[in-house]
Amino acid sequence: MSEPLSAPIRIESYVEERWVAGEGPGSTLVNPATGEALATASTTGIDLGAALRHAREVGGPALRALNFAQRAGILKGLAGAIKEHRDELLSLAMKNGGNTKGDAKFDVDGASGTLAFYANLGRGLGEARYLLDGEAVPLGRATPLAGRHVWVPRRGAAVLVNAYNFPAWGFAEKVACAFLAGMPVVVKPATQTALVAWRIARLFVDSSLLPAGGWTFLAGPAGDLLDHLEAQDVLAFTGSAATGAKMRAHPRVLEKGVRVNVEADSLNAAVLGPDVAPGSPTWELFVKEVVHEMTQKAGQKCTATRRVFVPRERLQAARAALVGKLGEVRVGDPADEGVGMGPVVSDGQRRDVEAGVAEIARGAAVAWTGEAPSGNGFVAARLLVAEDPRAAAAVHRREVFGPVATLMAYDGTAEEAGELVGLGEGSLVSSVYSDDAEFVAAATLAMAPFNGRVYIGAAEVAAEALGPGTVLPGLVHGGPGRAGSGEELGGLRGLHHYMQRTAVQGPKAVLDRIGSEGVAG
Ligand code: NAP
Repeated sequence: MSEPLSAPIRIESYVEERWVAGEGPGSTLVNPATGEALATASTTGIDLGAALRHAREVGGPALRALNFAQRAGILKGLAGAIKEHRDELLSLAMKNGGNTKGDAKFDVDGASGTLAFYANLGRGLGEARYLLDGEAVPLGRATPLAGRHVWVPRRGAAVLVNAYNFPAWGFAEKVACAFLAGMPVVVKPATQTALVAWRIARLFVDSSLLPAGGWTFLAGPAGDLLDHLEAQDVLAFTGSAATGAKMRAHPRVLEKGVRVNVEADSLNAAVLGPDVAPGSPTWELFVKEVVHEMTQKAGQKCTATRRVFVPRERLQAARAALVGKLGEVRVGDPADEGVGMGPVVSDGQRRDVEAGVAEIARGAAVAWTGEAPSGNGFVAARLLVAEDPRAAAAVHRREVFGPVATLMAYDGTAEEAGELVGLGEGSLVSSVYSDDAEFVAAATLAMAPFNGRVYIGAAEVAAEALGPGTVLPGLVHGGPGRAGSGEELGGLRGLHHYMQRTAVQGPKAVLDRIGSEGVAG
C-alpha cells in the first residue's frame, strides 16, 4: 500500500517526452468523502498543437513499424505495470473517486484486464501490420481483375477524451485498441478524477515500453486541443451527451472530417419477464443486479440501470424487494469498514443528482429515499415509481448520474417492452430477466435496435452472471442515439475505429501479395 499523499501534489502532463506542470494554480482534485484537496492539474501554457504533431510524426511511424505481436507485447507489459501497482492504484481511486474498494477494483482491474485481453488478441495476429477484410473477389471477365478490402492504421493521432467515472478503464480500453491498431495516443482523462490516470501514466512512461511519441498524457482541461486536429486523427470521446455534441460540432472536426467516436449518456433499462415469480432464482437475480447497478460507483456508471419495467401485477412486489435490498447498502466514506456505497464525485455532482430527481419526479413518485451522511458528495439513493411509463417523459429523457432508478409497470408483452425501452432514444445496455425462451428471444429482438448490448438474466446462467454493467472487451460497447451512436471494443472490431478500410481493385496477383502480408480481422 502506498504512503498517504502529502496533499495537494501537482500532477503533470507528459508531452513531447517530458513531464510538464502547466501554468497557474490549475484545477483542484478532491476527495469527495472528506473535501480534502489531493492534487492540482493545469494544461495552461502547454503547446497542444506541438504535442499532437509529435505524436503523429514521431509516435505514428514508430508504432506502424511494429507488427501486431510486438504491439501486443507492449500492451502485455502495460497491463503488468497496472497489476504490479494495484494496491496503490485502488487506494488512489478510493480517495479521488469516492470509490469503495469494490468500485475501485472494477475500474483498475478492468483496465489491466482489457489491456491483457488485447495483448492476447494481438499475439494471435502475429507478424502482420494490417488487417484484411474478407477474401479477394473476381471482378474481371477476360483478365484476372479482382478486388478486396484492407484495414490499415490511420496516420494521425488517437485523441482519447474520457469521463470522470472510469479514470483507469476509460482510457485503457481505448489505448488497447488504438495501440494495437498502430496509432499513437493522446490521453485526456477528466480532470476531477485524473489522479489514478496520472499515476498509471507515470507507470507506463517509467516502464520504457512505449516508443517515443506513442504516448502523450494531458492532466487538466483540453484547452485548444481540438483546434489542432487533422484529417487522419481520431477523436474518441466518452462523457456527457452535451459535451459529445460539442465535439461532433467542433468547427475543426467538421472542416477536416475528423473521425469521431462518441460514447455518451444512457438510460439503460431492465425488463422483468411475465414468467418470473417473486422468490424464484431469476427474480432474485433481477433484484440483486438492479440494486447493484444502482449503487455500484454510487450509480455513476454509463451502464447503470435507470429504468426498470415489470409486469403490472408485479409492481408492488418488485418495489418491496428492491427497497428491502437497497436498504442493506450502507452509505459513507469508503475508507470506513462495511460501507457499500461512497459519495458521488463532487458537491456539484450531488446537486446535479438532486436536480435530476426533481425533474424525473414530475412524472414519477419518489417511493423510497435511502440514508446518507450530509455534505461533500454524499447523496441518498432513490427509487421512484411510475404506474404509467408513457406519462413519465422525463424518466426517459434525463440521465440522473447517481444512485437513482425508476420502477415502472408494463403489460408483460415483448412488443411493449421493446417500445418502452426505445423511449430512452438509445442505450448502451438493457437487460431482460426471464426463463421463457420465447419471450426472451422476442423481447431481445424488440429491444436490440435501441441498444448496443442486450443482457439476458436467466436461472440457467445465474451462477456465472456478470450483471449488465460489466463491459466485456470481446463484445461491443456503445449504443445508438442518446448513447452517442458510437462503438468500442468487441474484439478485433475495436481496432477498426483506428484504421482505414480501403477497397483495392487490380490484378489478382498484386491483391494476393497484399493479402499474404495481412491477417484476417
Ligand atoms: P463531461 O463533462 O462530458 O466530460 C467528459 C470529458 O470531456 C472530460 O475529460 C472533460 O474534461 C472533457 N471535456 C469537457 N468539455 C470539453 C471540451 N469543450 N473540449 C474537449 N474536452 C472537453 O462528462 P463527465 O461528467 O466527465 O462524465 C459523466 C458522463 O459520461 C455521464 O453522462 C455518463 O453517462 C457518461 N459516460 C458514458 C460512458 C459510455 O461508455 N457511454 C462511460 C462513462 C461515462 P474536463 O474534465 O477537463 O472538463
